[in-house]
Amino acid sequence: MALLELKNIGKIYASGGTVAVGVRGVSLSFDRGEFVAVTGESGSGKSTLLNVISGMDSYEEGEMFVEGEPTSHYLEPDWEEYRKQYISFVFQDYNIIESFTVLQNVELALMHLKSAAERRKRAIELLDRVGMKDFAGHKGSRLSGGQKQRTVIARALAKDSPVILADEPTGNLDAATSAEIIALLHEVSKDKLLIVVTHDFDEVAGYATRHVRMFDGSVESDRTLRRTGTVASPVGKPEKLTKKGVLSNGLTLGWSIFRSKPLLSFFLCALLTLGALAVFSLTISSGSAMMLFEKSYMFGHIDGRVVVARRDGQTVTSDEVQGLASRYGADGSIIVDGMLEWVVSLNGQYGYYSGLNVRIAGSDGKNLGENAPKKATDVYLSLPLWYEDSVPDTVYCFNTAMTVTGTEFFRNTSKDGVMYVTEEGYRFITALYYTRQMGSCSAALEKGDERTDAVLRVSDMLEKGQYAIAGVEKDADARELSEIWCRVFLKRNVSAFIDAAGFEKKTVSPSYDELTDESGTPLGQNCVFISPADFTALFEEAVLKSESGWCQFSLFFGSDREARDVAKQITGDEYIALPSDTEIKMDFIDALGAVITGGFSALMWVAGVVFIAFFINLCTSRTVGAFSGEMAVMRSMGIPVSVIKAGMYFRMLISAVPAVLLTTAAGIVIFSVPKLSAMFTYISPWLYAVIYLGIFIIVFRVTRKQVKKLFGSSVRQAMRGDGQ
Ligand code: ADP
Ligand code: MG
Repeated sequence: MALLELKNIGKIYASGGTVAVGVRGVSLSFDRGEFVAVTGESGSGKSTLLNVISGMDSYEEGEMFVEGEPTSHYLEPDWEEYRKQYISFVFQDYNIIESFTVLQNVELALMHLKSAAERRKRAIELLDRVGMKDFAGHKGSRLSGGQKQRTVIARALAKDSPVILADEPTGNLDAATSAEIIALLHEVSKDKLLIVVTHDFDEVAGYATRHVRMFDGSVESDRTLRRTGTVASPVGKPEKLTKKGVLSNGLTLGWSIFRSKPLLSFFLCALLTLGALAVFSLTISSGSAMMLFEKSYMFGHIDGRVVVARRDGQTVTSDEVQGLASRYGADGSIIVDGMLEWVVSLNGQYGYYSGLNVRIAGSDGKNLGENAPKKATDVYLSLPLWYEDSVPDTVYCFNTAMTVTGTEFFRNTSKDGVMYVTEEGYRFITALYYTRQMGSCSAALEKGDERTDAVLRVSDMLEKGQYAIAGVEKDADARELSEIWCRVFLKRNVSAFIDAAGFEKKTVSPSYDELTDESGTPLGQNCVFISPADFTALFEEAVLKSESGWCQFSLFFGSDREARDVAKQITGDEYIALPSDTEIKMDFIDALGAVITGGFSALMWVAGVVFIAFFINLCTSRTVGAFSGEMAVMRSMGIPVSVIKAGMYFRMLISAVPAVLLTTAAGIVIFSVPKLSAMFTYISPWLYAVIYLGIFIIVFRVTRKQVKKLFGSSVRQAMRGDGQ
């Protein structure tokens, strides 16, 4: 059985309304060991014949048999497989991949070998055989014509296919080099079918076993010149590449393609990096878009907190709260819990720290260690990173000095800061806050008929039960405190409170003028100082005894889930209870506002990203042309399309590596430098994941488009497209 048999083959080219006959009625049969010389005038159909035999062009008439198998029903993948198994091609214009080195060109044809080391070894052997070993590292573009053709022959041998087709392999070479190349072809293809098209029969006359002359698309003559020796039958089919093989070969190929065109690769990397950085900058400056994702809670959300209120609006008693707490097994309780809903601003040497939640140390499960607040006037601050360089030792909360016992900083600037205080401290701040709310916390000093206005202030120098008067008059000993009352505390008589508590007068400031506030400005007022603990007690007593009392309180449990269960149980005729993770539904106007501002900036973000993607797509599709030649050569060599495609995808992925690294680095820098972190919207890791996913989607889509463009046409068309 013949290796190849053509029966009445016809190939017609129809393009732009004109029809040209490539070949017609060609019937030929070829075997291993033959050296067939094909000659004929230009346009007589020699190239067409080789293209049909190689499966690079389809035929319309007749039938070609490969080892007895008909091929007229073949589809493109069948031809790919056929080329991979049977055909090696040597062209007149070399079709070496110029951007690859000699070694890479040959290794490419060895893709069927799994191990890279084995590929290298075999490639060097083959280069040695064609006398090109010393040029292994040279780029294809630097070689002379003869050297290119030798490389191509080594490449053809790498495949170890039974058929070598050569279309005017010496067409561009001088006579001496031509002779060498023909000798080499003859030498390496003794056991193969070698078909050489030539315009100069003399150069092959010494070797050819057969001479086919073409004329006007038909075989004019077919002469046998020499006898051929018998050749051993075909070896088994080469094994199919596994998925893993396709991936690892694709990776090798992708890396080769990436390195082969450094300028283009640099351009791609730069483009993708710019794109990624642009998306990144869009994201970190589109703060209001993030609002769309924010949750609004009805109360200050603390894990495990349940907010309880009496339905009748009556003031709660501490016995009542204790009773409920122990009935439901609460971990803790707060009666005047309003501070958990509010945020406070602190005032310090370097400016304001605003929007801080007030939390009792330990209530959110965070261990503050040694630096935890201990006294009522101690605070531990958890602040956005941008405050890092500017936290003083003392901060002022509602004009009252608090000692900073520790600080920590966080990167996520969309979170609120927290001031941690002791339980006592929490109650103290609550007292400060509400007395502030109700007006200035003032007192009056009375002596006989005279009445002097004074300000009630807190000093942490005083112990519980001590008080001090300042600024009333210079001669302190002459003063006698007859009555103090605090208007703020609902007109309750403070002196009675002081008497009842057995207050002891501690110090008297000697001078009115020496009394200053935290900024050093003289107070210009008379003051009565008491300890934080007494201040708190005074407030709580006033609040909890007043008629317009305090009907809300909080209980604390292990988790929000537990809190939800307990809230359901407590809710009844007497109480209403809600877990603190209850969200507020925005009213229509607020929702509209959020959607308009957030939505607009989200829309701008999307528009920006689409524009960037479009731009990248545009730029990269322009680069496809740079590869069409290479891809066609690879296909003509019979490298599986799956491997070439994988190579293209890997090349793009490799190009995206700097983009990913640089955006990550940019994020790390921006969100660790305090000054910078203040200027941008924080991006959480999942948003990074979204950005990277976006990069990969763009990379994938662009590559798919390129691959489609490259592999949409037949090999022959693709090669013609490469400016032949
Ligand atoms: P040769 O290689 O012997 O010079 P070809 O096989 O290239 O000849 O061409 C044979 C005939 O087919 C010529 O008439 C040529 O014009 C025509 N032909 C070859 N390729 C094409 C093509 N892509 N489109 C149209 N006609 C073609
Ligand atoms: Mg030709």
